[in-house]
Amino acid sequence: MMTAKEIRESFKSFFESKEHLIVPSAPMVVKDDPTLMFTNAGMNQFKDIILGNRAPKSRRVADSQKCLRVSGKHNDLEEVGHDTYHHTMFEMLGNWSFGDYFKKEAISWAWEYLVDVLKLDPKNLYATVFEGSKEEGLERDNEAAAIWEQFLPKDHILNGNKHDNFWEMGDTGPCGPCSEIHIDLRSDEEIARIPGRELVNMDNDEVIEIWNLVFMQYERKADGHLESLPAKSIDTGMGFERLCMILQNKKSNYETDVFSGIIGQVENLSGHKYAEGGNVEVAMRVIADHVRAIAFSIADGQLPSNVKAGYVIRRILRRAVRYGYTFLGFTEPFLCRLIPQLVADMGEAYPELPAQQKLISNVIKEEENAFLRTLDRGIRMLEDNMAKNADTKVVAGTDAFVLYDTYGFPIDLTQLIAAEKGYTVDLKGFNVELEKQKERARNATANEFGDWMVFKEADVEFVGYDVLRIKGVHLLKQRTVKQKNKEYFQLVFDRTPFYAEMGGQVGDTGFIEGEDGERIQILNTVKENNLTIHLAERLPSVSSQTFYLVVDNSRRRHIQNNHTCTHLLHQALRVILGTHVEQKGSFVGPDYFRFDFSHFQKMTDEELRAVETRVNQLIRSDFPLEEKRDATMEEARGMGAMALFGEKYGDVVRVVRFGDSIELCGGTHTPRTGTIGLFKIVSESAVAAGVRRIEAVTGGKAMETVNHMEDLLKGLKNLMNNVPDLQGAIEKLVAENADARKQLEAVANEKAAALAEKLETQAVEVNGIKVVRYDHSSDPAIVRNVALLLQKKVQNFVLAGAFAWDGKPNLVLLYSNDLVAKGKNAGKDIREAAKFIQGGGGGQPGLATAGGRLVEGLTDALNKLVEVATA
Ligand code: ATP
Ligand code: MG
Repeated sequence: MMTAKEIRESFKSFFESKEHLIVPSAPMVVKDDPTLMFTNAGMNQFKDIILGNRAPKSRRVADSQKCLRVSGKHNDLEEVGHDTYHHTMFEMLGNWSFGDYFKKEAISWAWEYLVDVLKLDPKNLYATVFEGSKEEGLERDNEAAAIWEQFLPKDHILNGNKHDNFWEMGDTGPCGPCSEIHIDLRSDEEIARIPGRELVNMDNDEVIEIWNLVFMQYERKADGHLESLPAKSIDTGMGFERLCMILQNKKSNYETDVFSGIIGQVENLSGHKYAEGGNVEVAMRVIADHVRAIAFSIADGQLPSNVKAGYVIRRILRRAVRYGYTFLGFTEPFLCRLIPQLVADMGEAYPELPAQQKLISNVIKEEENAFLRTLDRGIRMLEDNMAKNADTKVVAGTDAFVLYDTYGFPIDLTQLIAAEKGYTVDLKGFNVELEKQKERARNATANEFGDWMVFKEADVEFVGYDVLRIKGVHLLKQRTVKQKNKEYFQLVFDRTPFYAEMGGQVGDTGFIEGEDGERIQILNTVKENNLTIHLAERLPSVSSQTFYLVVDNSRRRHIQNNHTCTHLLHQALRVILGTHVEQKGSFVGPDYFRFDFSHFQKMTDEELRAVETRVNQLIRSDFPLEEKRDATMEEARGMGAMALFGEKYGDVVRVVRFGDSIELCGGTHTPRTGTIGLFKIVSESAVAAGVRRIEAVTGGKAMETVNHMEDLLKGLKNLMNNVPDLQGAIEKLVAENADARKQLEAVANEKAAALAEKLETQAVEVNGIKVVRYDHSSDPAIVRNVALLLQKKVQNFVLAGAFAWDGKPNLVLLYSNDLVAKGKNAGKDIREAAKFIQGGGGGQPGLATAGGRLVEGLTDALNKLVEVATA
């Protein structure tokens, strides 16, 4: 039997024998595409090649790609664990042709691999072809069907509709028909009863899709019509875990050696057995699946957080914790304890896992702890809520939504807990809230893209490392984008000095000027599918002229200084704190920068000072920028750049060096470190477990920061009459102040004691209880102290106070302990009186206070207090 590893290798070597270049998986977390948070198919990393924005290194490529399907167009999250063949994270085996071979080779090689190499039985295989679409004016994909007929009998070739058999990259762009290969894994008896062809694409666990072959031959335009593509492409994707299941004769992906190690470990930790079935089995699948998705995302640099991709990861983690908590009895962090097993299983194929094992475990553990606390709070909130609705036994939809939205409770969990107590959940109300939220999200992100209006086809050259203004530039294409009913405009030029937002560095701003003198502001520069896009306030009136492109020079110089300074900081941190420090993220703007890095505790003041000093030394050393553009990864490593994961196939990298700092970096930098001038750390804080953040400023901004501190110091000195020993003087002042406060307290206590004694003698008997009515204007804190003194010594005694202080009405109600023992409750009684002063309050059964707004109501309030106290 082939192991998972052998299966992965056999796919690669098969396509290598068909002259494909084997490339590594791109990162699963997508960093440079605003339309996509995670890689969800093998083709993502080749999108710019298919769109024609980048030339392929080879026209035939194959790989195994880490994918995550938990958001957007592909979201399998709710299926995962409940069925046996959908994962959040999975590996997709794929082969590509970029304008090279087409349907004939794609289909025959798929067949050759499955049947000749892997020896799958053809009688269990089915292929689907696109049935055509009247509205699109497309006929059936007879071309593909004819090729399939060479391998399969006609009744194993099925027609599929546009939904299953027509693939589109997005609302616009490349698209085309596809052919899926399905396999029937049922026993002969079952097959005899119902033929497999009736179960294809019917969500049957044993008749499943394994491979999809996409034939990209059209392009969808913004108005919806299709045009033929000049260069046709092949894009295929096969589920690796499903293939392992088939070849290892299992009925579920989770029984293969891809997952068995982790499941075994979950069994050990929980004391449950997978074979128990039911919810236990589901929970184990959920956990085994999710822990991979979470660990790989963190390794790719995506930490759980409250927004965007980080939030998606947090939700996956919470789903796993929740299943473990509810069905396996885990009340302490457990996912983090699965990481060693995961690393043992997958570390060899994916070295980024062992390299960051400690960080991954720490981050997961902290998240688990936080969520377990939330889970506890949520369950208590739900219980309170049910107590409130004891008469109807229905949990309100709005409450279920709060639990879902703020506590991360999926609706089925709320239903489950409610059902245990005989309650139901108002699902309709919940869905209304959910819809409202979705609507809000849609409105926030909806973008309408017009078609590109193409004036010229050419490659785009970035010249912004060397110059900030160039003449004679041609406009290649433009389009209009509508966001929230606002229009803006995107321009692409054949050459540009504008740096597009990337790797934490913000995009350049500036202006363009036509030969006709028309000047248009550039508001930002961004990258999309490897294309540098200038966001303009309007479109040029003449597109065919040449343009003068000018980057805002002073802003860019500030950005460059900050970017170079992040490199110096990175190096200084590694020297002072140790080589475990690795960059985890950054933001580089003109006014400040932010640098996130792995480190396990808060930095001490001494460490911060040492780092600051060292960076400033590096600045003063005035190192020149040494760079190598277009280096291969091997050259870069040879130059001493730190081993970096997550570079895409075909990437040539740029190596940037200042003194001993050597990094791979596409950003813009200052020619000499001296221009940074001064470096000042503004703050150091935690971002997540094991990740710290430094915020800092340079140059003029650093001077401003220092000046601000100096002003503060000067102000303090002035206040202290310019004494020579400022610190000593302040210490003395603080000590004197503490002394004075103590003396004041002593006096106040004496006064309170005297007042307490006086009040005790003023008590008047009402209904057999001694009552003191107190209505002198006084500090409520003192009255409270007096009440506390009285409480210790009196019996059968009530102090009812209603008095103004500082223009506001106050109430106090004291019951002696014997009255409390008889059932009196000051906390409750005071609320009735508080209504007269338009206020509220509460406290203990023996002593309660209240504040309000209406001073005029004090007399009524006092009468009420006495009335309830003596009732
Ligand atoms: P399905 O209908 O089974 O969800 P799909 O139509 O979404 O599959 P494609 O987008 O064509 O699948 O992806 C190509 C291949 O990737 C599929 O044939 C399947 O083998 C595999 N695959 C898709 N989604 C998943 C998933 N969530 N987990 C594991 N494998 C998957
Ligand atoms: Mg699917």
